[in-house]
Amino acid sequence: MSTEFDGLVAVVTGGASGIGAAIAAELGARGATVAVLDRDVSGAADVFAVTADVTDDSSVQAAIDAVVARFGRLDVVVNNAGIGAQGGVEDNTDAEWHRVFDVNVVGMVRVTRAALPALRKSPAAAIVNTCSVAANVGLPQRALYSATKGAVLSLTRAMAADHLREGIRVNCVNPGTADTPWVGRLLSAAADPVAERAALEARQPHGRLVSAAEVADAVAYLASPRSRSTTGTSITVDGGLESLRLRPA
Ligand code: NAD
Repeated sequence: MSTEFDGLVAVVTGGASGIGAAIAAELGARGATVAVLDRDVSGAADVFAVTADVTDDSSVQAAIDAVVARFGRLDVVVNNAGIGAQGGVEDNTDAEWHRVFDVNVVGMVRVTRAALPALRKSPAAAIVNTCSVAANVGLPQRALYSATKGAVLSLTRAMAADHLREGIRVNCVNPGTADTPWVGRLLSAAADPVAERAALEARQPHGRLVSAAEVADAVAYLASPRSRSTTGTSITVDGGLESLRLRPA
């Protein structure tokens, strides 16, 4: 078992499902003490799990306080909780725009704000935000979701600049379509789930969905002191979607 994160405490938001659960497991396997912050902790396994909604400032503060009270420190924050939205600009109401931005963007701000006092005391402080290829590629019928992820990318760079001198690194990971319960829900809602899955797989140049474990591996690198010269940037885990444009023959 790796001891890379021995003695370090990590919080993973949205850590009870999908990519977040894989991140929590990966950091734990590498020696971190992991706490999950999620609005629904029923799927969280073998970790200290706190129920909190990232849209509720007092529940976020209470969750971070509970982690620091329990473990005495906080070194790594993975801002991963997020929700999807489908459609073009005519398809979502103003209330939906506010709601999705509140979870995907302001949620990261709330968690980070609550965690900063503890992170400033850590010799290995790192924040990793789960962004998306949607920040860099014009995905059809994803206007609202893509706008939130574009904001996450800019927020990541701005936070990296603001906290560089404090020794807190901030990076993000950009997954392509990943095989998670979220995508499972999208597929089950499709008229033809098998054809829809095949279409999603074909969109990835490497011909398959990204696994949550592959994303978690990149997050672990960005969260660890191995990436100590890396801040304000992103690692893309998308089978080539962002840069190859066309699937090779
Ligand atoms: P998921 O639905 O499987 O898991 C999301 C988790 O976040 C759930 O446990 C959920 O309870 C939690 N959550 C949602 N809203 C919350 C809130 N307000 N407060 C606290 N917890 C909340 O989704 P996933 O596919 O694992 O996605 C995780 C992250 O990865 C998201 O930020 C998403 O935008 C990003 N992402 C996913 C994909 C993909 O294809 N699955 C691709 C790119 C980026």
